Amino acid sequence: MPQSTDKDIFLTIGCKEPQILELRDDLFKEKDIEVWMLRLDEIHPVVSGNKLFKLIYFLKEARESVHKTIITFGGAYSNHLAATAFACAKMNLNCVGIVRGEKPKTLSHTLLFCRQCGMQLEFISRSSYRKMDKEFLNELKNKYGEHVLIPEGGFSLKGKEGAKLITNYFFDKNFSHVCLPVGTATTFAGIVDSYKSESEIIGFGVLKKLEDIEERFADLEVPVSRKYSFIGDYHFGGYAKKSEELISFMNDFYSKHSIPLDFVYTAKMMFGIYDLINKEYFAAGSDILCIHTGGLQGNDSLPKESLLF
Ligand SMILES: *Cc1c(COP(=O)(O)O)cnc(C)c1O
Repeated sequence: MPQSTDKDIFLTIGCKEPQILELRDDLFKEKDIEVWMLRLDEIHPVVSGNKLFKLIYFLKEARESVHKTIITFGGAYSNHLAATAFACAKMNLNCVGIVRGEKPKTLSHTLLFCRQCGMQLEFISRSSYRKMDKEFLNELKNKYGEHVLIPEGGFSLKGKEGAKLITNYFFDKNFSHVCLPVGTATTFAGIVDSYKSESEIIGFGVLKKLEDIEERFADLEVPVSRKYSFIGDYHFGGYAKKSEELISFMNDFYSKHSIPLDFVYTAKMMFGIYDLINKEYFAAGSDILCIHTGGLQGNDSLPKESLLF
């Protein structure tokens, strides 16, 4: 578990330690490399993956406050909203989810879950969501009172601090490469910021136009001296876009390794890693750690018969 001071939040929520497993494949043998996976998807059946790490210091702040209220933002399938709703329920915190877009006739499985957890949902138009100006934030204060505000996806210094805790699981192992999928880049920033080793840290972008990593890292105060690689070629057409090739890759991966991937993030990273291994991006002798950042609830939006798991 992460640092002892934060351990109790992980315990309250019911998390367990993630394993690091070696993945076996003839391809890896042939290229003389090792591939390992940090199973953050297994820390908890509901709040799996990186989201809880990014939330941890916000949860702590809300727990120590008088108002005990969290407000945050996301789309209808947001892993972040689901994780926030569940964590708040476990910690007896009030929470409000501001959802992008008009209220649909039927709520997504993610939003139904959030509501079951006690999250109050408020829908706002995409244009006001984009603006998110002072006036709107003031309205929130008038309506819901004092609260802890979590930016979308946890993109913030506090979110980065929480993501740093992830490196505790592998900082003493000298992997030649550490790979993770990148959305807002908060988790990437945390790992690049805190992992002081010779490893090459590689972020795999899951959005089409993620060209501002440098700016994001500057906003998140990652020292410019830190090295990292960013690969943007495996977004499959953009955020939450998918193809038959990606879905069949997920099924093959599951048949081989018995590990489920999510189609929005981890499948794209693993597809990229396989492709790069084939193209000999990784030198012989490399040992690569892939971070499984969870997000499996998102697969519920796929047609039932498309996945083997
Ligand atoms: C949110 C999410 C990410 C991206 O994390 P960022 O910190 O926003 O870059 C990666 N993987 C999964 C499964 C996620 O839910």
